[in-house]
Amino acid sequence: MRNGSIPGARGRVRPMTLFGGPVLHAPCEEVTDFGPELASLVEDMFATMYAAQGVGLAANQVGERLRVFVYDCPDDEEVRHVGHVVNPRLVETGGVVLRGPEGCLSLPGLEAGTERYDEAVVEGFTADGEPVRVRGTGFFARCLQHECDHLEGRVYVDRLAGWRRWRVLRQTARAPWGR
Ligand SMILES: [Zn+2]
Repeated sequence: MRNGSIPGARGRVRPMTLFGGPVLHAPCEEVTDFGPELASLVEDMFATMYAAQGVGLAANQVGERLRVFVYDCPDDEEVRHVGHVVNPRLVETGGVVLRGPEGCLSLPGLEAGTERYDEAVVEGFTADGEPVRVRGTGFFARCLQHECDHLEGRVYVDRLAGWRRWRVLRQTARAPWGR
């Protein structure tokens, strides 16, 4: 992202990979080429996230098996966080574990109470190859953990147990986009 530009403004909205799509359920690969294709993927991801009115998006949600995510997400103090991370590592989690409503653009219209740490720190790189460190609390910490999970091939449903898991799976099967 360059100074003065709106992330995603030059991006293309890509089709969303839905729950059950194989690319969503497999670990992504490390990015090794920090060239213009990576910058344009980040732009496309912002455009796709905004079009779907999401707060975060991982590359495998647009069909790319690469370790990249973007976000535009408020924390619990209504501070807005906007950015992207390439090859992110969740280096710290802390605070209390909270169960809160969580949804995903790959399971449109659904949500479930999911347990996440209240604090999270992610380290990685920008698309230009510069190191970044992102610290989040509250809802933004939830988002960071959710996006890191995506890159490991995990969705929030994988963190549910018992009736919460059963209910989401049943809703998925009944959803118009379900398979
Ligand atoms: Zn998601």
